Order: sequence, then C-alpha cells, then structure tokens
Amino acid sequence: MLLTLYELSVENKIFYAVLLFSWTVYLWEAYLASRQRKIYKSTIHVPVELGKIMDKETFEKSRLYQLDKSNFSFWSGLYSEAEGTLILLLGGIPFLWGVSGTITARFGLGTDYEISQSLVFLMLATLFSALTGLPWSVYNTFVIEEKHGFNQQTLGFFLKDAVKKFLVTQCILLPVTSLLLYIIKIGGDYFFIYAWLFTLVVTLVLVTIYADYIAPLFDKFTPLPDGELRKEIESLAQSISFPLTKVYVVEGSKRSSHSNAYFYGFFKNKRIVLFDTLLEDYSPLNKGPEVEPQQGAGDEGDEQSKPKAKNKRQGCNNPEVLAVLGHELGHWKLGHMVKNILISQMNSFLCFFLFAVLIGRKELFMAFGFHDSQPTLIGLMIIFQFIFSPYNELLSFCLTVLSRRFEFQADAFARAMGQASELYSALIKLNKDNLGFPVSDWLFSMWHYSHPPLLERLRALRGPKQD
Ligand SMILES: [Zn+2]
Repeated sequence: MLLTLYELSVENKIFYAVLLFSWTVYLWEAYLASRQRKIYKSTIHVPVELGKIMDKETFEKSRLYQLDKSNFSFWSGLYSEAEGTLILLLGGIPFLWGVSGTITARFGLGTDYEISQSLVFLMLATLFSALTGLPWSVYNTFVIEEKHGFNQQTLGFFLKDAVKKFLVTQCILLPVTSLLLYIIKIGGDYFFIYAWLFTLVVTLVLVTIYADYIAPLFDKFTPLPDGELRKEIESLAQSISFPLTKVYVVEGSKRSSHSNAYFYGFFKNKRIVLFDTLLEDYSPLNKGPEVEPQQGAGDEGDEQSKPKAKNKRQGCNNPEVLAVLGHELGHWKLGHMVKNILISQMNSFLCFFLFAVLIGRKELFMAFGFHDSQPTLIGLMIIFQFIFSPYNELLSFCLTVLSRRFEFQADAFARAMGQASELYSALIKLNKDNLGFPVSDWLFSMWHYSHPPLLERLRALRGPKQD
C-alpha cells in the first residue's frame, strides 16, 4: 500500500525530507569514496611524473594504508548512517527526552525544570554517542594505525584520554548550554542577537584559554630549547612582524607519528606549536631502537610508553621546518584566520536569525515526535542539525574550496619569502612521513580535500608557468 505525498501530513513530509536528504548525502559521499578506492586499487605503479618524488616502497605503503582507511570509513560511515536513521525511525530523541524527564523529576534537579531536563538529555546523548563511537575509534587506532606503524598509544593511555575528553567536554558543554537556553528564554523578541553574541563570546574565551588550560590536559607542551632553530624562527617572525611570544614543541609522538605545525593566539600574543614528529633532530621516533626493554623491568605506567622507533628517520631539517612555518605565517599575514572567523560568525548570526523565525513552528517538533511540548534544546537540535543540513553541506563545500585557495596563497607567500625549494622538499617529506597517497580522483578531492593535492602544490611552487 503506497501513500501518495498528498496523504502525508506536513510533519511527515518534513521528517521524510530530512531522512531522504541525509541518505542522499550519504550515498553521494559513498559514491565519491568508491571512485577514490578504485584509484587506490588500480594505481599500483608509481606514475611517471612522481618518479623523482616518491620511491616505490613508500608509494606501495601509502597505497595500502589509504586503502585500509577507505575501507574502514566505508563501514563506519554505513554504521553511523544506519544508527542515525534507526534513532529517527524508532523515536530515539523523544524517548531519551522522556527518560531525562523521569531522571530530572526523580532527583528534583535545579530550579528551571526544562533546563535541567535539557542538561540531563545532553549528558545522556553525548554519553551514548561516545560509547557507540568508542569501538570504531579503538579499531582505527589499534588495528589500522597500528598496522601501518603510526600508533604510539597504549590502550590505557587511549582509554584515559577518552574519559578525560568526555569529562572536559561536559564541563564546557553543560554550563554553556544552560546559559544559552536561559538567554533564549528571557531574551524577548531579539533573543537571537543575544544568543549569537553569547556564542561569540564563548568562542573567543575558549580560543583564548584552550592553549593554556585545555590542551595541556591532554598533551605535553615544552618551550623549544634555545638553539639555532629557535633563533631562526624568531628572526623569520620578526622579518614579517609576526608578534611571536613563544615557540612550543608538543609531544605528538605520544599519540602517533603523524606530524604537523600550527600557530594560535589573538592580537599581540601569538605562539607557534611544532609537533616533535615534525623535527628531524627532536623526534623521539628517530632516537633509534633503544636497548630492548626487559619484561617487567621498566615502570609500566602508560606515561612511560616508549615510542616505537620507525625504520626510517622522519621529520624535516631546520630550513624545511622554517619553510613550513613560512607557509603557516603566510596564513596569518594574508588574514586567512580573520576571514574564517568572519565567515563563521556571519553564518552563526544567520542561523540564529532563522532559528528565531522557525522555532515557533509546532510541525517541526511534531515531525520528530514532540507532539505536546516544544523544548528549546530539541528545537536547536532539529533546526541546526536537521533543517539546516542542506545549507550546512553547501557551506562546508564552499569552505573546503576556500581552504584550498588559502593553501595555495600561503604556499605562494613562503615562495615569495625565498623558501620555495625548502617547502618543496618539506611537502614531499611530510607526505611520505604521513603516507599520503599522491593520486586522487578529481571529484573526490574537490569535495573532501581541504588542502590541494600534493602534485598541484609542487607544480605551483616550482614556477609561475604551470605545465
Ligand atoms: Zn596551510
């Protein structure tokens, strides 16, 4: 028996449209991934133009690594799409809301019943998603990353980390949400302006305190010791008037042998962070195999987990590290951060405004099983996550395209600083250390790559005339 569209109520139409869109995006991305997987499977010889850049062995290693990752994301993606669909179809959201109500009533939490219930709901929902995501992330870390030589964590470290992450998230999420709900409740007609301003302030505060108070809970940051590299970094920063206050090395090798560098901070207080795995002379992974640890002899705390040395040295030499920083500082000099913040704030304002327009529509709540109540938190979830999903997809695609432009511009900046050849070899080394696969399907990379493919970056670095 088929229902025609006319026979469906408005709320049913909304519900099925959301579900249909979600599956459309899922199938589209699965299609793109299958195109890319085909490339991993069929490109078994190093393409001619890559001959000088990548040796046969690394090429094969990266091919197998990316193939494993792609297969993994096929299954984890299918799982999460199925889970999301089941939650919607079985009324998981109203069910959890009801459970939260029972708990709130039982323990008589707080003075505002709806806000208390919302916080309980949020806690349960994040707990559920952390628990269902855990097996996937365990598998990814201890099977896939492990197999390809990246994982440096012990299971103890990993689990402790997951618990810490959950608790820190709760400490931020719960007070911020309750204040936001309160502002929406008392804000009157222009509540969306106050709500937007509030999230803006929260973002700025979080960005400010993140590096000093949150990140150190998870990783060890040490100032880069005095020496040639530090002097060179300082003079590079000075040459473009970058207000550098500190250079840190983060012990990324505790987690994995992937490497990176970034900077952060507002106004006149900028810091640069280098992964120890980026620095040839600093990476514990290069310290060679130490004397075989005797069983039970060492202190077995997970703080003591020994980095597993790789067969090959990894990381960049000082001029290459400086070129990577030249690229990073290019992002700053060209105002990429400011532009990104502006875009995201404009977007957030627009979303809160539309939220204000839509929140009074009862059929949106009814579509997701809320027939007699319209809790604000649920409204936020339905509108920001479900109703805006086509807009969110479009926006994220545009941001990916923009990000690739910014990457080219930052490369060009480093090139103008005279670092072209160092950046060229740094990109090749980083690609090798991280086992990036240098061949990609055009559609897949257009949709997903926040950084341009390696070959395009190298070509742009080599000269103004592209071949
Ligand atoms: Zn960049």
